Amino acid sequence: MPASQITHLECSNCGEDFDHHDAHRTCPSCGKVLFARYDLDRAAATLTRKSLTGRRPDMWRYREIMPVIDDANIITLGEGYTPILHAPRLGGTIGLKNLLIKDEGLNPTGSFKARGLSAAVSKAKELGKTALTMPSAGNAAGAMSAYAAVAGMEANVFMPADAPSANKNECIAYGARLVLVDGFITDAGALSAKAAEERDLFDVSTLREPYRAEGKKTMGLEIAEQLDWTVPDVILYPTGGGTGIVGIWKALDELERMGLMGSERPRMVSVQAEGCSPIVNAFEAGADHAEPIKNPHTLAAGMRVPAAIGDYLILQAVRESGGTAIRVSDDEILEGTAEMARLEGIFPAPEGGAIWAATKKLVDQGTIGRDERVLLINTGSALKYMDVLGPLFEVNA
Ligand SMILES: *Cc1c(COP(=O)(O)O)cnc(C)c1O
Repeated sequence: MPASQITHLECSNCGEDFDHHDAHRTCPSCGKVLFARYDLDRAAATLTRKSLTGRRPDMWRYREIMPVIDDANIITLGEGYTPILHAPRLGGTIGLKNLLIKDEGLNPTGSFKARGLSAAVSKAKELGKTALTMPSAGNAAGAMSAYAAVAGMEANVFMPADAPSANKNECIAYGARLVLVDGFITDAGALSAKAAEERDLFDVSTLREPYRAEGKKTMGLEIAEQLDWTVPDVILYPTGGGTGIVGIWKALDELERMGLMGSERPRMVSVQAEGCSPIVNAFEAGADHAEPIKNPHTLAAGMRVPAAIGDYLILQAVRESGGTAIRVSDDEILEGTAEMARLEGIFPAPEGGAIWAATKKLVDQGTIGRDERVLLINTGSALKYMDVLGPLFEVNA
């Protein structure tokens, strides 16, 4: 396999550089998000359209611009390279001629979190870490636990006690130490941070270490490659912590710098739930940072993130792309989830249903044209959400 061309870590806020051989999490100077940087000229010498055709069908095919140096440290379950499906029946209901769905529900552990955690756990191993921790109420916990199991590492999960049983059970099944917390995700976060401090655990929370975003960026690389080095007009993405949008935006920049595509970009749409929409609020207010939400609520747990450390990066990507940010209600989410299942055979996580609900609104408003090529990223499978999708089955009964 070709080599990783990682050169250093760079702060996305203050611009200071740091050594990637050190286990930095956030920027030691300003506390913001660190990005992995690569020698893209050297990467471009071997990462070509042609060389890609013979490579492994998972996210590690983009080896030169992945952060792990020694192949032996790659912890993989075959994540990534998910299909982009045409959705003519769903699109047809609103006159959209060119609707595409990238189905991330097909990833190991049933969500795109697998990408981020494959990269983060691999890199933690490379940095000599043996024990991980994370606060999570959902898919990230299961993904971390699974990859820790493959790596033979210890996984600690701090989870609100009212999290869905599927999320608790999969952590236990993968051998993680699960601590149920009476309180919100922020309370779980405080306990995880305390444990990290006391027991030297490596904290792999969203954008609080540099490598989950590297895993998630592969969605952007795949979109370009799978659409034959073009990009859609619009990409809709459900936003929680924001690694997805931030990663895709970073990926397209790297592809352009490597000469694999031009300066064309999709309009990035950030979708959030009415009960938790800090990014939409900030977008509408013209602000660079988001105000935390006090009492976040939505059945789509992946979007129930009251404050995101990468808020400024999400807002930058949305604005630079000429995109927008939009809220949907839980009822609209349930309806969107049901329609995707009934018309396209994709039973999406409610976060996936949310972006279809948002698409309908934006087409209705004229923000998305009916002739445009629109890509929805269905971030997960419904199968872990049976507790919260109950109302859906009543509607259909
Ligand atoms: C975590 C999660 C999200 C939010 O993703 P971010 O990249 O953190 O914004 C969306 N959908 C699902 C299913 C998730 O698990």
